[in-house]
Amino acid sequence: PYDMLIIGGGPAGAAAAVYAARKGIRTGVAAERFGGQVNDTLGIENYISVIETDGPKFAAALEAHTRAYDVDIMNLQRADKLIPAAQPGGLIEVQLANGGSLKAKSVILSTGARWRNVNVPGEAEYKNKGVAYCPHCDGPLFKGKRTAVIGGGNSGVEAAIDLAGIVAHVTLVEFADQLKADAVLVKKLQSLPNVTIHTNAQTTEITGADGKVNGLKFKDRATGEEHLVPLAGVFVQIGLVPNTDWLKGTVALSKFGEIEIDAKGQTNVPGVFAAGDCTTVPYKQIVIAAGAGATAALSAFDHLIRTSVP
Ligand code: FAD
Repeated sequence: PYDMLIIGGGPAGAAAAVYAARKGIRTGVAAERFGGQVNDTLGIENYISVIETDGPKFAAALEAHTRAYDVDIMNLQRADKLIPAAQPGGLIEVQLANGGSLKAKSVILSTGARWRNVNVPGEAEYKNKGVAYCPHCDGPLFKGKRTAVIGGGNSGVEAAIDLAGIVAHVTLVEFADQLKADAVLVKKLQSLPNVTIHTNAQTTEITGADGKVNGLKFKDRATGEEHLVPLAGVFVQIGLVPNTDWLKGTVALSKFGEIEIDAKGQTNVPGVFAAGDCTTVPYKQIVIAAGAGATAALSAFDHLIRTSVP
């Protein structure tokens, strides 16, 4: 069995693996796709100490750093089920989709999350070419340009307020007949001079030319009228979905499906820790996920030295 088994190989899982291996304990990482979301990222400009890099380079560096230690990397492996230890200090089991099973004295869950798509024509085609999901990451790319935000919940309205300070103009498009964000955010948004809000508006297409976004089409749901807004960027803010379906009923999840953790990264299941975008940690960013991975590994190690017989 492993001393520490990490499920997920994004920034959180890679950091956890490095911290675990440096303790000289048996460490394994099982990941569906090593590198995680950064594989789908173009520019990364906010990982502190790295002025600028790109997603594939960053993912390769995560893997190289992990491989520099004695870590079993099991790539292309999807975990299907977690079975808690039968008694305190016992082995935790993780069953894989391929029928295999792994056992460990401690487990770190770092399966990340994915952005919910609007699924309109143009979204997939222009992803990273004007279609973006993270205002903290990509907002500065649209400095001085016109952009839209799809979604009028807290994340959409926060994104619009944030972007309004950077870009020339923000159009916010919400499907429902009113914004669902907190009143204080809505009030702030309404006070901004360079923001236009459309409610009861269904996004129907993200248009583009020459390989980049040039507009957003929406339908006024009251009148059926179609509108085209010329712009350079569209931020889709209709939800971040944690990859935790396989944990339902075993590990305590928030109402958004995020793994509930304490300040040490501990879940409600003894010996099971979690880190990164799949958890209740505020803000989903690479630097935060990596830090959380280190926290979870150190906490899991602390758990090991208290509970297991060497
Ligand atoms: P992830 O990176 O999501 O990794 C999850 C890992 O778990 C993957 O290896 C995945 O394959 C694996 N996995 C999932 N389910 C299972 C399972 N059942 N069994 C086994 N393995 C599983 N952040 C920034 O800080 N700066 C940026 O510029 C930036 N740009 C972004 C651009 C895009 C397009 C996207 C999508 C995100 C961006 N982010 C950015 C956010 C950042 O990528 C995430 O916050 C970060 O990757 C989270 O790390 P993580 O390790 O928690 O999860």
